[in-house]
Amino acid sequence: MPTVLILGGTGEARRLASVLLPANRVISSLAGRVADPALPAGEVRIGGFGGPSGLAAYLRAECVDTVVDATHPFAARMSANAAQACAETGVALLVLRRPGFADISGSHHVPTLQAAAVLLPSLGRRAFVTTGRQGIGYFRDLPMFLLLRCVDPPEDVPSNVDVILDRGPFTVDGEIALMRQYDIDLLVTKDSGGSMTAAKLDAARELGIPVVVVDRPPVTPGVPVCESVEEVAKLLLA
Ligand code: NAP
Repeated sequence: MPTVLILGGTGEARRLASVLLPANRVISSLAGRVADPALPAGEVRIGGFGGPSGLAAYLRAECVDTVVDATHPFAARMSANAAQACAETGVALLVLRRPGFADISGSHHVPTLQAAAVLLPSLGRRAFVTTGRQGIGYFRDLPMFLLLRCVDPPEDVPSNVDVILDRGPFTVDGEIALMRQYDIDLLVTKDSGGSMTAAKLDAARELGIPVVVVDRPPVTPGVPVCESVEEVAKLLLA
């Protein structure tokens, strides 16, 4: 039976694990960032591998035939490590990357969180920040109010930041109510894509609030990319 390692941390990765079972031995890998993660079916391992060489050693030890990089589109380091380790070991690699958000053409596009931080004060006074807890430090010294929504609390909350903990899925009505409650005049998001968190964009449009979108990092050149669980399943279950 082929062994598939899914690099996870997304809803698609969880769904893929169920779809590839029982025809494959499926191991899902999580980084261990979230305190109470939703667990996929099949085998699960948690924690970093120790860079590309650690991952290569793991691939050999577990006789992995295929790696599916189903990490979040912004987990760039893990994706680069996977590309390097698979090239070194000769293990097949596929990237599962959901499409970005539809209809964000009227937004302010920036390449990084740092660039978003530079832009924010010129666009609003009270920003709803949905880019995760890890990058909140970039916004620390901004002369404005920030509402940060994330899954787990940040270790250090700057004084200009209020935190709400939630993991979605979210509704347009709920997002409008939240933005009104906090008098939000600016939305900051990564171009994560997916339906779980897209409602904020419709809500911002309805309220006439500008949106700052952090664009995705590029995929490693030469690695095949699938946009859906079904596309991956078609290749691996053929
Ligand atoms: P990252 O910066 O690309 O990765 C940093 C390090 O974390 C990697 O070098 C690796 O450590 C470890 N790691 C990351 N993903 C892993 C996985 N699936 N299994 C085992 N180790 C993993 O990653 P990140 O942006 O911090 O994201 C961490 C996890 O959260 C990912 O699994 C991702 O799918 C999920 N996630 C990320 C975001 C986001 O916006 N970045 C959003 C939602 C979910 P070693 O070098 O030691 O192997």
